[in-house]
Amino acid sequence: MTRATPSWSLIRMPKRDHYDSEALEAGYAKTHRVYELVGLSLAAWTLGWLFLRVLDLPEVSAWEWVLALLLGLLAADLVSGVVHWAFDTWGSVDTPVLGRLAIRTFRHHHIDPKAITRHDFVETNGHNAMLSIALTLPGLALANDPEVPALVPLLLFTSALFVATTSQFHKWSHMDEPPKLVALLQRIGLLLSPAAHDVHHRAPHERAYCVTTGWLNGPLDRLRLFRLIERVVTRVTGAVPRRDEPESPER
Ligand SMILES: [Zn+2]
Ligand SMILES: [Zn+2]
Repeated sequence: MTRATPSWSLIRMPKRDHYDSEALEAGYAKTHRVYELVGLSLAAWTLGWLFLRVLDLPEVSAWEWVLALLLGLLAADLVSGVVHWAFDTWGSVDTPVLGRLAIRTFRHHHIDPKAITRHDFVETNGHNAMLSIALTLPGLALANDPEVPALVPLLLFTSALFVATTSQFHKWSHMDEPPKLVALLQRIGLLLSPAAHDVHHRAPHERAYCVTTGWLNGPLDRLRLFRLIERVVTRVTGAVPRRDEPESPER
């Protein structure tokens, strides 16, 4: 017997569908696709514009470009870790607005980690493209200000570029045969490697949240920074972390 297609027209999903790959996949709505296409268009436009503005900045050396590229990778890795931790830890697919917009994809990814390798360019990158605009817009504003050091808009450009491409890096870490150049960059540690990311995919998914390069996973996990923030949030709000995890006793 085939199971009924879940109805995402309902405000809440039946609880069993929170842990059902097909049901979660069915939550990829046409309106979400439009949101992703808008995000990609805005990111391409503002990243391209900011790149031209940065090229126009006086006295930016090759070393500053190298520094900005490395710091941009670090910043994007940190952003990916914080966003990933937040959507893995709090709420559920029934959370108003964010449940459908973001939490669904994170929960689906734990249940079917290979699904991301079947997503096309838009579904893979649309969401992060939209997020990158939070960096390109201030970058464009500051690039026009002669009082602001050139490194600032340059850093905002490289950070935005790597925030926008993080989901693609994450997708490559799940592919059995990524492009040869990507596999090389993974081996030398410039991009998230499958082995480094595999640590995150062990239940209850509470380590190695960073998915751009994975450089910050070691330090953040050793510091137990996310556990500390969770204890503070629980004390202040009463919210229980990972309440919706399949293994959670709170479920
Ligand atoms: Zn996760
Ligand atoms: Zn993953």
